[in-house]
Amino acid sequence: MSDTFTLINPATAQPIGEVARASVDQVDAAVARAVVAQRAWAGLPPVARADALRSFARAVEGHVEELAQLEVRNSGHPIGSARWEASHVAQVLNFYAGAPERLSGQQIPVAGGLDVTFHEPYGVVGVIVPWNFPMTIASWGFAPALAAGNAVVLKPAELTPLTAIRLGELALEAGLPDGVFQVVTGSGSVVGQRFVSHPDVRKVVFTGSTSVGTDVAAGCARELKPVTLELGGKSANIVFADADLEKAAASAPGAVFDNAGQDCCARSRILVERSAYDRFLELLEPAVKAWRVGDPAHEATDMGPLISASHRSTVQGFLESADVAFRGSAPAGDGPLGEGFWLPPTVVLAERGDRLAREEVFGPVVAVLPFDDEADAIRLANDTIYGLAGSIWTENLGRAVRVARGVKSGVLSVNSHSSVRYWTPFGGMKASGLGRELGPDAAEHFTETKNVFFATE
Ligand code: NAP
Ligand code: MG
Repeated sequence: MSDTFTLINPATAQPIGEVARASVDQVDAAVARAVVAQRAWAGLPPVARADALRSFARAVEGHVEELAQLEVRNSGHPIGSARWEASHVAQVLNFYAGAPERLSGQQIPVAGGLDVTFHEPYGVVGVIVPWNFPMTIASWGFAPALAAGNAVVLKPAELTPLTAIRLGELALEAGLPDGVFQVVTGSGSVVGQRFVSHPDVRKVVFTGSTSVGTDVAAGCARELKPVTLELGGKSANIVFADADLEKAAASAPGAVFDNAGQDCCARSRILVERSAYDRFLELLEPAVKAWRVGDPAHEATDMGPLISASHRSTVQGFLESADVAFRGSAPAGDGPLGEGFWLPPTVVLAERGDRLAREEVFGPVVAVLPFDDEADAIRLANDTIYGLAGSIWTENLGRAVRVARGVKSGVLSVNSHSSVRYWTPFGGMKASGLGRELGPDAAEHFTETKNVFFATE
């Protein structure tokens, strides 16, 4: 394997730079630095760790535009989305900067002495992230892990390392001690695997595909190493006939085509109650046609290209014998964007059991299926190995509660499509993952409880 990797702008297919591929020895050197740095970091007064994270947050806030422009070039994210993502990283850091002074243990009544618990950091945490949301997903791992007193080694996806590299520099500029937060670029099979096998990496956070995640978990099991997994999804957007159909249809494209459908929470199945099915499709078509696909650098763009030529072929493979109802548009032709990895947003009519109705596509493709009643909607929503997110549209409160309890997913939303708020828990059931990120408890998830009894007699 060569020791560098060429980055490609997915909107133009043009090379934009070279990034180093770390060797196992380089990973080991980074982990060795992290081990030393972590002891000092964990030994700081909690307020000093909080202050360091707040100044890291301010450094990110001061570089939102630069980070966003990097993401536009490296990942093809529309500039508006990329600015949101960079600001989100600063907010996540600010939120977990509140954690060091709040990691309180317990005092438990025991006769003859004093019993107390401590939340001790694991030590070095390895964070492995995918290419779809390079900055935000990284911050969900590193911010709470650092707050809890761990050192972090972060491996971005080989395709999209630029914002992670810049975040590593900003951390140092902001005064985070050397070695506490390191970014190691390279391939999953070398760098990611070494996080799994290295005895001094004491916890792994993995976001990516279910197949690689399963291997990572198996490797961590051999080392008795805890692992958090955020994996794939096939989330359902369930629309009942009593819903505000205009609102449900108008918001459906954003819920699946955001980031060109390369979103683990994409509502890539729309399940519509049979009596509203035709009307819903009539309302959906203009909303899909109005979805603006084009130059990610333009403010008005809703959706950019797919991440790579090979990923686009995989997505196209799902469309081979699909029953396409209608499509949006995408750039083509001779302009500078002509070579980019474009695919128009596509709405297909699927049957139960079809690949498109059950498997993750991770592209701008949505399958629409009718259902008969509430029980059928829940059954159909659960007819996939995944259980990450989902939406429920109804004006009937009792039904909203029943369906929200019946769908086996970690993150559901009624009459909206929200999935991610940094102060609420996020994660999947079934093949979508293990453990939860974000929310009020995430820093504690990067600690082990120690119980100490002090005898007084
Ligand atoms: P992937 O192939 O599983 O890769 C994810 C990360 O793991 C990359 O950094 C990759 O490195 C690394 N990796 C690959 N092989 C590895 C190995 N043997 N050991 C350790 N690390 C390894 O996933 P992807 O194709 O990048 O991302 C798409 C998938 O991520 C989708 O299935 C999507 O649903 C899922 N996802 C889930 C969430 C969530 O929160 N649930 C969020 C976003 C994405 P390299 O690619 O650099 O080799
Ligand atoms: Mg991959």
